[in-house]
Amino acid sequence: MRGESSVDLAVVGGGLTGLWTALRALERGQAASVLVLEADRIAAAASGRNGGFADASLTHGLANGARHFPGELEQLCRLGRENLAAAAGTIAAEGIDCGLEHGGTLEVATAHWQLAGLEDLARLARRCGERVELLDAEQVRARVHSPGYLGGVARPDTTLLVDPARLCWGLAGAIERRGGALHEATPVLELSASRPRGVELRTPAGKVRADHVALATSAFPPLVRRVRRRVLPVWDYVIATEPLGSDLRASLGWRGREGLADAGNQFHYYRLTPDDRVLFGGYDAVYYFNNGIDSRFERRPASFELLADHLVATFPQLSGTRLTHAWGGAIDTCSRFCAFFGNAAGGRAAYAAGFTGLGVGASRFAADVLVDLTFGITSERTGLELVRRRPLPFPPEPMRSAAVALTRRSLARADAREGKRNAWLRTLDRLGLGFDS
Ligand SMILES: Cc1cc2nc3c(=O)[nH]c(=O)nc-3n(C[C@H](O)[C@H](O)[C@H](O)COP(=O)(O)OP(=O)(O)OC[C@H]3O[C@@H](n4cnc5c(N)ncnc54)[C@H](O)[C@@H]3O)c2cc1C
Repeated sequence: MRGESSVDLAVVGGGLTGLWTALRALERGQAASVLVLEADRIAAAASGRNGGFADASLTHGLANGARHFPGELEQLCRLGRENLAAAAGTIAAEGIDCGLEHGGTLEVATAHWQLAGLEDLARLARRCGERVELLDAEQVRARVHSPGYLGGVARPDTTLLVDPARLCWGLAGAIERRGGALHEATPVLELSASRPRGVELRTPAGKVRADHVALATSAFPPLVRRVRRRVLPVWDYVIATEPLGSDLRASLGWRGREGLADAGNQFHYYRLTPDDRVLFGGYDAVYYFNNGIDSRFERRPASFELLADHLVATFPQLSGTRLTHAWGGAIDTCSRFCAFFGNAAGGRAAYAAGFTGLGVGASRFAADVLVDLTFGITSERTGLELVRRRPLPFPPEPMRSAAVALTRRSLARADAREGKRNAWLRTLDRLGLGFDS
């Protein structure tokens, strides 16, 4: 973007949160003119490179929701379900070709100590009115042919699978059809309150005066101080196989095409793509000193090799299969694992960040919260503790790096010792704090 402009709503960040915010503001008739400013390209960051699990959970899973918001868990589950259904509605209405699949999820135990957690999950899911099936080893292996599975929980309605980059590009098209504008290669360098038009955003070659501003900058250095100590970028890595031939594909079973995840502290998530590759990610959660974000971190051979080994351990059938893709992306981690919100610039700006690796579905809900907060609208959403309360900040460096390293080591040790949590993890649990991808 070059030059100066004035708009009703400026959105900073062209990932799922920013794109949904622009679209929801237009759909809800809150803003006549909307501008999205993206430093890189639309969907260049996490939103274009994630696993594509669009989950109904607004709280990074039911157990985390029950831990932090016990009094509003059922309400959050309902809002999450409504949100996911509305996202699917938009995808259909706008004709967004993002490979949408209704496979649901299958969470599997690969160690005996994980089985109790799966039973708790099934109980919580039932409490929230979900369809859920608890499976023993034989039943889960009959669905997906991995020799390591010891049990599972199938939740057919809780997750949609999408190609997230194509979802973003489709949302960008929908914004433009409603008269919104998108500017790529336009980093916002500074935000300041301005009168009489609300907020001023400075970019390298221009200036935007906006009545209202939504900040959706995720794991990147935030424009407001309040977010700075509450988000840290955690790098998550993914590999993908070549498309499987029909025999190999059949050898996996997996006819329901569910999104899969195992139940360790350091967990993997995996799925089939529309062209029948296996996408396999997670496990390592890597933090680089001082909230490191750099394109160099997108490739980490050690993590790719580990994932390749774990893929073959999960599916020995794939031992000769070629890996064609490997990549990484930054996750906006906060200490309570789910998005937090707030106002800035005298109430004319609002921010959402901290999805901690489960933002594909929740970003649409966050978008509605951002519209509420930046336009001063009171809604069911703005009354939620989830929206009103913010997570505890992380300590500054070098304590931050030390705490993350200790937590990672402790989680790995817990996985190796039948889930037994050491004193450090128990302290974090008591304080409602954590570190995750
Ligand atoms: C490898 C990986 C796998 C994942 N898998 C899943 C999954 O399966 N399911 C799930 O729910 N979630 C998953 N996630 C998390 C999910 O991708 C994120 O929660 C979600 O995409 C967050 O969207 P966002 O728009 O908030 O952030 P982003 O997609 O990171 O977008 C933020 C954008 O803001 C831009 N920006 C930052 N600062 C500025 C500035 N000053 N000016 C202009 N632009 C700026 C950035 O360039 C970026 O494009 C995964 C993430 C990764 C990295």
